[in-house]
Amino acid sequence: MSTTVRALQGDIVQLPVQAIVNAANASLLGGDGVDGAIHRAAGPQLLEECRRLGGCPTGEAKLTRGYRLPAEYVIHTVGPVWHGGERGEPALLASCYRRSLELAAAQGIRSLAFPSISTGIYAYPLELAAQVAVSTVRAALQTFADFDELIFCCFSARDLQVYQQLLAAPPGAQPSPA
Ligand code: ADP
Repeated sequence: MSTTVRALQGDIVQLPVQAIVNAANASLLGGDGVDGAIHRAAGPQLLEECRRLGGCPTGEAKLTRGYRLPAEYVIHTVGPVWHGGERGEPALLASCYRRSLELAAAQGIRSLAFPSISTGIYAYPLELAAQVAVSTVRAALQTFADFDELIFCCFSARDLQVYQQLLAAPPGAQPSPA
């Protein structure tokens, strides 16, 4: 069965999907941005479970339950901090998407929503991060074809526009310069 891949604008904590991805920091003990929103919505049990995980390296991912969220699971992944792009940022960001999909597939998760990892406090330029996100997810779907739906959850209308443009282009096509 083919997977629907789409982008929407919204608050990821409200999405009725089986799992949402958290753009966490290496401690997994909560933070600002989407991480803070997820912890607030999930409640204190999420932090308790995260404490037992012992952190997470950049580019890796760990799974917890979703507690009070509509989503059953949260996949916490740690994106790279943007330092100009010469410190392995694209490969680390791609790894976040790949490892999240691997974990989700192993758990039998059918629907998953991603925030735009690293593009907030970690300052990864949105256009570049979105290219990595879309191309990595498309490539991973060649291997993990057993999802019903994958969502790129954009916080702003501008971010949504960028993702929608990339998704409208055929796989492998270079996005047109903004
Ligand atoms: P990072 O530290 O990885 O940069 P941030 O949480 O600062 O993580 O930002 C990642 C992305 O998540 C940004 O594009 C930000 O606008 C977006 N974001 C923040 N809150 C939410 C939310 N509630 N739902 C979806 N996306 C969000």
